[in-house]
Amino acid sequence: MAKKDSSNKSRCDFCGRSLPEDQLIHGLGAAICTDCVDAVNEVMAEFREREQQKAKNFSLKLLKPHEIKAKLDEYVIGQDEAKKVISVAVYNHYKRILYARNDQRDVELDKSNIILVGETGTGKTLIARTIAKLLDVPFCIADATVFTEAGYVGEDVESILTRLLQAADYDVARAEQGIVFIDEIDKIARKGADNPSITRDVSGEGVQQSLLKLLEGALVNVPPQGGRKHPEQKFTVVNTQNILFIASGAFNSIEKIIGERMNTNMIGYNQKKQFIDKNNLIQYISPQDIKTFGLIPELCGRFPVITHMNPLSPEDLKRILKEPKNALVKQYERLFELDGIQLTFAEDALDYIVQKAVELKLGARGLRSIIEKIMTNAMYEFPSSKKKSITITKEYAQTEFEHSIFSYVD
Ligand code: ADP
Repeated sequence: MAKKDSSNKSRCDFCGRSLPEDQLIHGLGAAICTDCVDAVNEVMAEFREREQQKAKNFSLKLLKPHEIKAKLDEYVIGQDEAKKVISVAVYNHYKRILYARNDQRDVELDKSNIILVGETGTGKTLIARTIAKLLDVPFCIADATVFTEAGYVGEDVESILTRLLQAADYDVARAEQGIVFIDEIDKIARKGADNPSITRDVSGEGVQQSLLKLLEGALVNVPPQGGRKHPEQKFTVVNTQNILFIASGAFNSIEKIIGERMNTNMIGYNQKKQFIDKNNLIQYISPQDIKTFGLIPELCGRFPVITHMNPLSPEDLKRILKEPKNALVKQYERLFELDGIQLTFAEDALDYIVQKAVELKLGARGLRSIIEKIMTNAMYEFPSSKKKSITITKEYAQTEFEHSIFSYVD
């Protein structure tokens, strides 16, 4: 109860003035005067207006699906189906945000979170990262394997949003329209008859349950410094309603599940007599297969868009070396050009690099480390030499690569 003074008036705990009872509102152990209530209301109204204005001013480049796909083509080789599906999903997602902001009619558009299924090094992260860059929205990557249920050793799923906040320079309105990429979602599948390779037990399911909250579109308390190491930090409330989640995983051996569902005969025809390409079953993936693999139905339901990445052929890998805007060959040529040296890769040298990448079985991921090994000596020697041009031949590539492996083994 607020204290009374000698004239039997009570004091406002905000402004400190003594006032008659009819101008005070009493709460738990404190009182506030009607003037202060008005002042607080004014400040709050201003704050809300500022927040709304901020969200409106936050510019979103709404590119059409064709434009998104064309931009993706500059960086991502192949994967036409995935690029198309994702361009549509991303366009719908951001259209939904703008529509909700400007239109008060009550047709609610569902969110189009995406699951990308495909082998490692086929461009899943690259696609998500490229989309975030071209839309100019904050982007972060989270690895599903580091999460544990609240109360266990490991990271809470909320830490995903800490990363997104950091990527948005702590601008909450911007973070709330960002993209979160969750890698290795397949590793939190629950263990079942269909995926005995998964080492996680029921705790995988616990993490899936925790993720649901984020995906559903909720107000989440986020520790801005992340982790459990700073218990004293104030939480920031982040609304996940408009955050686009793109999950990805290799889903090893899911082809077996797809094959069984499709129940094709020996030659490759299903019961409706349609031809099924048994060499690339991943292209027929459906939400049902992901469920059979071990993602809980509620989580599958939060990812209405599902698409696949094709394995990269040697031809794709060669194109990846040469064609994207920031292709490795272009990067090395530029590096040497800065020293006044014209660098050329012979075609058979590129074929050699591709062949080594195929052996590594890391998709395009292996290309960089292979070419780096081949080029290290050249990058060390040539800036000090008088040469104005060099060609990397297959023989040179082979010698350098084998030597680097040899010195590594040594
Ligand atoms: P993942 O599918 O495992 O997420 P990434 O997207 O991280 O694979 O790819 C690893 C690297 O390989 C990328 O940085 C990129 O340079 C290259 N890469 C992979 N796939 C492609 C592709 N389809 N087009 C162009 N580059 C690619």
